[in-house]
Amino acid sequence: MIIIFFGPPGAGKGTQASLISEKLDIPHISTGDILRKSFLETNQISKQLKQTMDSGNLVSDDSLNQIIEDRLSSDDCKKGFILDGYPRTIIQKNFLNQYLEDHNLYILKIFDLVLDSTDILERIKSRSSIENREDDKEKIIKVRIEKYLKETKPISSYYSVNFPNDYHVINSNQEIQNITKDILEILKK
Ligand code: AMP
Repeated sequence: MIIIFFGPPGAGKGTQASLISEKLDIPHISTGDILRKSFLETNQISKQLKQTMDSGNLVSDDSLNQIIEDRLSSDDCKKGFILDGYPRTIIQKNFLNQYLEDHNLYILKIFDLVLDSTDILERIKSRSSIENREDDKEKIIKVRIEKYLKETKPISSYYSVNFPNDYHVINSNQEIQNITKDILEILKK
């Protein structure tokens, strides 16, 4: 089973992807987490990467496509995987389509977590006090929301048009367990 999560920063993609990953016993692939892990290395590339992420901008498509290709070729992805934070641009979407086609895979479910901009700011502000993420500062959140609307919203629209039966909008303005319940309900069908 292959699942893709979409949604603005703070909509709870990571939380839901992780819960669903446990339920279905398939890996949760968060490109943000993979990138943050690479900060542990202290070389020039990881320094630049951190700068880009801390500014709220997107990391290059080439880097992300390489990360995804490497990750998806691991054995634990054989029975499926959950994508959280990828694809975010047209180039990434095209790369993923090609990868899936080359490997005879198909997308089973797409969940688009929807949240108002005022709720986004509130959610991220409370997360920043817990996780202390540099990119959760208010000015940077605005850049991230802008990037999301400009680059990534058209990608989720692409899936809504091209995979209408597999694409599901989820109201993210509710308790975590209710969001999970809505998602599991759809997965049961
Ligand atoms: P996230 O944890 O998904 O909110 O990602 C945090 C940051 O990592 C983003 O603001 C980007 O700078 C970078 N990032 C994560 N995934 C991608 C992606 N698919 N394409 C480009 N940049 C990404």
